[in-house]
Amino acid sequence: MRKLPLPSPVLALTVLALSSACTAPLRRFEASRSKMGTSFRVVLYASSAELAEEAIDAAYARVDQLNAALSDYEADSELSRLSAASDAGAVEGLHVSEELATVLAAARHWAEVTDGAFDPTLGPLVRLWRRSARQGELPSEERLEQARGAVGWRALEVDRERLLVSLREREMRLDLGGIAKGYTLDECVRVLAEHGCGRALVDGGGDVVVGDAPPGEQGWRVAVRPFGPDGEPLVLELVHAAVATSGDAYRYVEIDGLRYSHVLDPATGLGLVRRVAATVVARDGMTADALATAACVMGSERAVDWLGELEGIEGRVVEVEGDESVAEETRGFAARVADRTAH
Ligand code: AMP
Ligand code: MG
Repeated sequence: MRKLPLPSPVLALTVLALSSACTAPLRRFEASRSKMGTSFRVVLYASSAELAEEAIDAAYARVDQLNAALSDYEADSELSRLSAASDAGAVEGLHVSEELATVLAAARHWAEVTDGAFDPTLGPLVRLWRRSARQGELPSEERLEQARGAVGWRALEVDRERLLVSLREREMRLDLGGIAKGYTLDECVRVLAEHGCGRALVDGGGDVVVGDAPPGEQGWRVAVRPFGPDGEPLVLELVHAAVATSGDAYRYVEIDGLRYSHVLDPATGLGLVRRVAATVVARDGMTADALATAACVMGSERAVDWLGELEGIEGRVVEVEGDESVAEETRGFAARVADRTAH
């Protein structure tokens, strides 16, 4: 029989130190900072304030990094510079960062799967729409036509492995507003776990990604914002999962008595006029974010059937007409709900 070597004193001491760190009682820590135009809240369990603080600082530093890569608001972000590269005409095989390639590849994938209901090349129309929203008037047909000329997800090609992007139209403007936050939340949870804080929740203005459950719990209880006349808070129980809600009642503009969403209908180039909100649960935030946006464009009847066919996805779509609201959800959605007062 082979003899196992005896542990050295140094090793024994290290093991002792590690096990005492593991058994130190976990305490709850919470932080909130303004990032990406919303508030980013981190909740985690750690054995000391120092560990928690280090992890939280690292997570927020990652948000800043990702904002510098993925924002369409910052003129010098990597995304904006990529878009600007198409000003002189189509561009082939531009090298991008790992994170930009990851999010663009996912966005391109969902554009194809949803046949353009989700479209990361809507940038020119999004800009035009933001201007209309500020001025309170619809864009002219001429401007709409001009913006449409530089839109089209087929003109975006992403080689995720080689980190290369091609833009096949002139003056394209990429917009990851419907997906980047989800990825950023995923990255926060990953960074927190890397710093030893796996039991964590990150909330970016209502879109939430969670890691391991809090000590002694089955999961994190996450309240989803109510929507519609009979909307009641819905509490989900999640572990290693994400939830995103789109098309909520807060982000809309009213022009000539009609209410338009900040989510664009690619068919009209204007904000959606149907009053719809979609909540999607997925394994990761990037998927939940993209699918919630896409589901709003599709509307409740189509979206719920479609979401129900996707593996690991559950969703609930509420559509309001006048004083009535109709809620539809995928078959497995109810199993995620810990508490629902109204429905
Ligand atoms: P979300 O709040 O995740 O639904 O994202 C909305 C943001 O996504 C908008 O502010 C736009 O930047 C962008 N966007 C709007 N319409 C679409 C669309 N149909 N597909 C993809 N992104 C969109
Ligand atoms: Mg989204």
